[in-house]
Amino acid sequence: MDKLEHIGIAVKNLEESNLLFAKLLGKAHYKIEEVESEGVRTSFFEIGDIKIELLEATRADSPIAKFIEKKGEGIHHLAFGVTNLENKMSEKTAQGFSLLSEKPKDGADNKRIVFIHPKTTNSVLVELCEEKG
Ligand code: ZN
Repeated sequence: MDKLEHIGIAVKNLEESNLLFAKLLGKAHYKIEEVESEGVRTSFFEIGDIKIELLEATRADSPIAKFIEKKGEGIHHLAFGVTNLENKMSEKTAQGFSLLSEKPKDGADNKRIVFIHPKTTNSVLVELCEEKG
């Protein structure tokens, strides 16, 4: 892994949470982006070298809706920036980690992403992300 790229936080209402985190961090979000395929609307805050990604479900079967139903709002995933995502996926699989998808998906913020199943990472959902070329 190259760096901790962002921390994903599941929220019920993106507008309200944008205001809350703007107050907390002392700066506004710098973008809002919907990822239709994942059923989420996201906003991003930059804080030092790390980003905070707020995630709101856009439909009932969104993974974020299911997460909030089960666990409530809160930290959803840690995202690590990598170079050569496919190599990193093979490496992590060979090490015994389970990936949630066989191929990278399109994520927010111009990234290709894949998740590692939390059952293999002490219940922490881990995202590997690579900047699209
Ligand atoms: Zn993320």
